[in-house]
Amino acid sequence: MIDQQRLSEHQANGRLPGPSRVARQLMLKLERDNTPLTELVRLIQSDPALVGRLLRLANSAAYARPRPAVAITPEVLMLLGLPTVRNLVLAFSLIDAQRDRHGNGFDYQTFWSRALAEACAAQSLGTICRAAPAAELFTLGLVAEVGKLALVELEAEAYMRLQQEYPTQDIANLLELERQRLGMDHIQLSVWLLNDWGFPKLFQDAVRWHVIPKEDWPWDVSSRPWKVAATLSLAHRLADSFFLADEARLQELRAIEPLAASLGVYDLIPFGDDILQTWRSWGDLLAVPVVLPASFAELSTRFTPVRPPHIRVLIVEDDVAMARLLEGLMAKAGFEARLAKDAQTGLTLALDWLPDIVLTDLVMPGGGLKLIEGLRATEAGRQMYVVVVTVLDDTDTLAQAFALGADDYVVKPFDARILLARLKAGTRLIELKHELIRRNAELAEALQKAEAAALTDALTGLPNRRYLVNRLGQECAAAKRNDRSLCVLLIDIDHFKRINDTHGHEVGDAALIEVGKRLRSVLRASDVVGRFGGEEFLVLATDTSLPAACQLAERLRAHISATPCSIGSMVIPITISVGVAAMAQDTPNCHEVDKLLRRADQALYRAKAQGRNRVCSESAT
Ligand code: GH3
Ligand code: MG
Ligand code: MG
Ligand code: MG
Repeated sequence: MIDQQRLSEHQANGRLPGPSRVARQLMLKLERDNTPLTELVRLIQSDPALVGRLLRLANSAAYARPRPAVAITPEVLMLLGLPTVRNLVLAFSLIDAQRDRHGNGFDYQTFWSRALAEACAAQSLGTICRAAPAAELFTLGLVAEVGKLALVELEAEAYMRLQQEYPTQDIANLLELERQRLGMDHIQLSVWLLNDWGFPKLFQDAVRWHVIPKEDWPWDVSSRPWKVAATLSLAHRLADSFFLADEARLQELRAIEPLAASLGVYDLIPFGDDILQTWRSWGDLLAVPVVLPASFAELSTRFTPVRPPHIRVLIVEDDVAMARLLEGLMAKAGFEARLAKDAQTGLTLALDWLPDIVLTDLVMPGGGLKLIEGLRATEAGRQMYVVVVTVLDDTDTLAQAFALGADDYVVKPFDARILLARLKAGTRLIELKHELIRRNAELAEALQKAEAAALTDALTGLPNRRYLVNRLGQECAAAKRNDRSLCVLLIDIDHFKRINDTHGHEVGDAALIEVGKRLRSVLRASDVVGRFGGEEFLVLATDTSLPAACQLAERLRAHISATPCSIGSMVIPITISVGVAAMAQDTPNCHEVDKLLRRADQALYRAKAQGRNRVCSESAT
């Protein structure tokens, strides 16, 4: 049986899975963003296998270098990007240490192949819902099930027996069995290891909860821990799905659509296919076998999509025998049916339950015509497909029914096949309607994203000028209404042209990104900071007096000048000048924004004239 003491002993003897010494050191250094690249290079060079893998990645088609890299240099690391380097280092060190332990019967290859799929899925999700940095989510996906390796290490025989006896158990049962037979389950062990490796609690919690239905999670929907757990949960199911047979895989994809939508992924087919490609390239790189299944795009054309599961049919019929008959038919056709016995009840139920189809008698208490009229008078009722069930000689009433808006009719006594065929025609229209609604929602979503993009600066990811000016207008109005103070800080990088001229435009861009990050890191969450233009940033400090705003500006200035920026192998000192201005309480709002910005600009001008790397303020007089 596994208990804390055995765990700790095994850990002390180095017998539990974990990153190598080099990997741990590298990760520590990569977390600090001011570690010089040359130091990272030295550390990587101490592990020749790692050097080989990194070079292979750098020389792969994805990075399209003019000449192949033959040694790890700071440039190579910058080319790959430090988050990718971090992923590779961790994945490689874990996988290589736990690759070829033959003899215990555990399939390490498949384990890592699946873990890599989960890592790629979590990373891709991260780029969309941003629960955490994508590279960190990759790591989280990779190690979420690492507790299984610990189980194999500690209780190989019992664990393998359990796997053989219960090859396809649902996860809750499996965990329960593991606890009964082995003392701990693999999720508990994963959490224990993550804690031991210093992973943040946010990630430990995600691992603990991601295999439990999200209805039981202890967090608010869309809170950060919720999002991280949902990301991992979805990545877990996607990764599992890659190992299913084709049709089952497509079905699973459809089953996880709602969860994906809650994370901002609306079209899982191209999304899933992208993950498959990423999975394959990581598999190549790490020498982990990846058996790529057919693409989701192909599957979705091969298997016709399942109809929306429930078409709702409301039957309005006073004749008990006829009602029975219709109910039976609807059930057989796979529709969800309800019954009303008169027009008034039918109308009330229709507007409450919102059926797709209304199947109505004409001769009954209240009258079928009244029901149709009532339905068509409402927005919801106009959406419903109305089929009249009538007797042959009733053509006048039938004509009226159509005039009021009936869609189709069947004649009593009817042939069941004809009725079903007519309803089928109706469902086609309904599906079309559902499809339109879905596409509309997608368009609205795309529009929202485009609007967000139009307000974001592409280089720094901060709000852009348009957003800032707009927001400043709103903040001015709010500050006046509530008699609160409001200040703006206009920030301009000193001698920025020299950076461009000396090191090139790309380094200049990297410096802008770095300055943006540093400004953001000093400010309160409620302060707005954005890129106002070229090398100028603007801070909106709400509820802040002029002296307090000057102090804030001074903090920003000091923070930027304290440590030079490391960009590539270069270390570049950067300073800023800041012009601060406070909103005047007593002027009318209409020109406030322009005036405020002009005063901030004048203050900035003075800061420059007085020698730069300083703060000047302009009070509203
Ligand atoms: P000072 O503000 O201290 O007076 O000097 P400066 O050199 O910063 O002043 P100036 O406003 O003349 O130069 C700003 C430079 O910023 C000019 C422009 O090429 C550069 N710049 C503007 N936008 C970008 C950008 O997006 N990327 C890069 N790399 N440079 C930019
Ligand atoms: Mg300037
Ligand atoms: Mg400047
Ligand atoms: Mg400027």
